[in-house]
Amino acid sequence: MNTSLMIPAITTAISIGLGCRTCCSPIISTFLSTYVVSHSNGVKKGSLSFASFFFGKMVSVSLLCMVSALTARQFISESGYIGSFNLRFFSQAAMSAIGAVMVICPLYSRDRIKEAEIMQYKMFKGQSISTLGLGGLRFPSKKNNTDSIDREKGQKIVDEAISCGINYFDTAHSYQNGDSERFLGEALSKYPRDRYYLATKFYVAYSRNIEKTFEEQLKRCRTDYFDFYLFHCLDEGTIDAYTDKELDYLGFLLKQKKAGRIRNIGFSSHASLETLERFLDWYDGFDMALIQLNYLDWTLLEAKRQYEILTEHGIPVWVMEPMKGGRLSTLNEKAAAILKAEKPEDSLSSWGFRFLQGLLNVHTVLSGMSEPRQVIENAALFDKQIPLTEREMKALQRAAVVFMGTMGVPCSGCRYCCSTCPSGLDIPLLIKGYNERNISGSTWKIGNLSETKSASECLACGACLKRCPQKINILEVMKKISHTK
Ligand code: SF4
Ligand code: SF4
Repeated sequence: MNTSLMIPAITTAISIGLGCRTCCSPIISTFLSTYVVSHSNGVKKGSLSFASFFFGKMVSVSLLCMVSALTARQFISESGYIGSFNLRFFSQAAMSAIGAVMVICPLYSRDRIKEAEIMQYKMFKGQSISTLGLGGLRFPSKKNNTDSIDREKGQKIVDEAISCGINYFDTAHSYQNGDSERFLGEALSKYPRDRYYLATKFYVAYSRNIEKTFEEQLKRCRTDYFDFYLFHCLDEGTIDAYTDKELDYLGFLLKQKKAGRIRNIGFSSHASLETLERFLDWYDGFDMALIQLNYLDWTLLEAKRQYEILTEHGIPVWVMEPMKGGRLSTLNEKAAAILKAEKPEDSLSSWGFRFLQGLLNVHTVLSGMSEPRQVIENAALFDKQIPLTEREMKALQRAAVVFMGTMGVPCSGCRYCCSTCPSGLDIPLLIKGYNERNISGSTWKIGNLSETKSASECLACGACLKRCPQKINILEVMKKISHTK
């Protein structure tokens, strides 16, 4: 039971046990107001639910005091400890107690109210969804096993997200080899189901049987419905399967939607413009789409045109890789200096998020946060919408040009390639070391990559190429890395 319900429940049990009839209405009110409080975390200041939250908190504690006081009075008077009970004295004492609680309550509520101020929400089909969502691809894993999430650390991230007002959680059948769904199911089970929106995905390159996968996902996530269900990673390799008449994946999803087991259907895309257009010509009744969007990919991966196509079809855009796998949070020295000269106090991440805030059809930005501190920092950037000014946009474009010149291999660290590699190479780790060496001149990372096999063990089979959403020629990169001294 929720702790905020436990106290009035115990008080009620005592009252009923003592046969106290005068308490009935305060007890009911206490339950109702406490219910409001327990469901109002992360509400937006100024909204009706905020008022319910604030007053619900005050009323619940006040009534709790009354119930306790009346119960005590009944007990004292019925037990005969005090023969003549002074009702006037009691009333004065009760009113003073309530007055004190009314003063203390706003202080007691302070932390919650502060959290509620942190997050901006956008309406989506009558529901208020946070503009920042938690992506489930980068939960901290146990040492030497990227597919096994560290539950303790992960739970702290989820708890921090909820307390910062984030109410959108995104995962997928294939993320962290299935452990992301299992972990989110566990971590969110302590919260009421109507307090968060859960999105997951079906990836045809990972499993062909959508019915079996869907049932497994519900079990893993400990839920009986998904708020959002997406075709995962639309691209040139998956479009034929997703649009196949015989397989009829869309038909299955529409049936589930009708049955209330899916609330919204969408897709995530790493497709070329032609593939995206072909897909939307086939069906454009999707409720949302998730695309890779950030100020580098705006031109680099034609994200601008992708965004425009979706907007033309009236499909709201959710964003993944807003920081391009974390690389826009650090940039390089020269690019960072341009932005720091413009806004010395602002973090590099804030530039990336503010760029997205200028795009009206962007609904929610997903960030795969792997530390509670990161959640707090990112959530603080979503407490208001401040799109970049024209001058700031020019500075950002200059920084992007400088950074792209030294960016190296644009790997986002998604790990989609890893499961296909017959040699078991940790491809993103090898690329990270390679980039580090090229950008900073440091050689230690390449020389000390003991956690993975060497790039020279690449069999040049090409299996990884189809999986890479960034269209990296991994095979060529492995060749280059193996020739790097
Ligand atoms: S080409 Fe090399 S890196 Fe890619 S899957 Fe084959 S062995 Fe692995
Ligand atoms: S090489 Fe491509 S598929 Fe592999 S981790 Fe990097 S971006 Fe992802």
